Amino acid sequence: MMIVRTVAELREVLRQRRNGSIGFVPTMGALHEGHLSLVRAARETSDTVVLSIFVNPTQFGDVTDLEAYPRTEDADVALASEAGVDVVFAPAAAEMYPSGFATTVAVHGVLVDSLEGAVRGRDHFDGVATVVAKLLLAVLPDTAYFGAKDAQQVVVVRRMVADLNIPVRIAVCETSRDADGLARSSRNARLSGHERRRALSLSRALFAMRDAAASGESDSAVLVAHGIDVLAHESVVPEYLEIVDADSLEAAPTLDRPLLVVLAARVGATRLIDNVLIAPKTT
Ligand code: AMP
Repeated sequence: MMIVRTVAELREVLRQRRNGSIGFVPTMGALHEGHLSLVRAARETSDTVVLSIFVNPTQFGDVTDLEAYPRTEDADVALASEAGVDVVFAPAAAEMYPSGFATTVAVHGVLVDSLEGAVRGRDHFDGVATVVAKLLLAVLPDTAYFGAKDAQQVVVVRRMVADLNIPVRIAVCETSRDADGLARSSRNARLSGHERRRALSLSRALFAMRDAAASGESDSAVLVAHGIDVLAHESVVPEYLEIVDADSLEAAPTLDRPLLVVLAARVGATRLIDNVLIAPKTT
């Protein structure tokens, strides 16, 4: 496995491998089983697997959050190598944003204004879209792999790739969870034992809503109230808990088709997100 730090080196390494297919897994590091599930999906279908590790400063509104973000490059490199990654691209911030950098890719509309965009500010998805565009153009993979855990990110990236005619297939892998249901996240490392137990209420709320939907409840307001109750058992107050269309992210008042439940909440100082697809009762 190779580690490269510059776009020029990356292009040179990949130039020799373009006769085969290239799969790409963009990450911010602190790798866990969720990231590795993307690597495995990439490994299955690609001749060369590239994984990037870059904690992108422009998508963090809050400097404290950026500084607190876990950075574990040595362990990441070992995990990536074990999982069969061929090339790790781990640039410094100055490589991605050299002095004079002046271009932003901005997706507009409800896709970025709602949910994460509403809480984190509109700069968040400008930062995501810009760095993902830069990474895709640096790697030029056949397929890029993203996690369903970041549902809004997937919708925004798909929109951007279509709008800018970036020639890449976007593959989405299901959310990887700990055995008790907690969605895996680099941020989970910051939870104390007590906070981790409280954090479990997020997946519990989502699963309870999914079960209520499967049993016939189709009023989104009732389903959301049910989820809020489950969170309240652990004194967790959501930043948002909404039922939305999985493609447009528009709020959906009635469960008349499969929909996405999206949830964000702080547990202690740690901000967590999770989501689950729900479907109406089949008769
Ligand atoms: P991050 O390092 O958090 O930016 O995540 C990098 C990629 O891994 C994104 O596409 C995430 O959606 C994905 N990812 C993070 N956590 C999980 C998880 N628990 N299951 C599946 N994919 C995940």
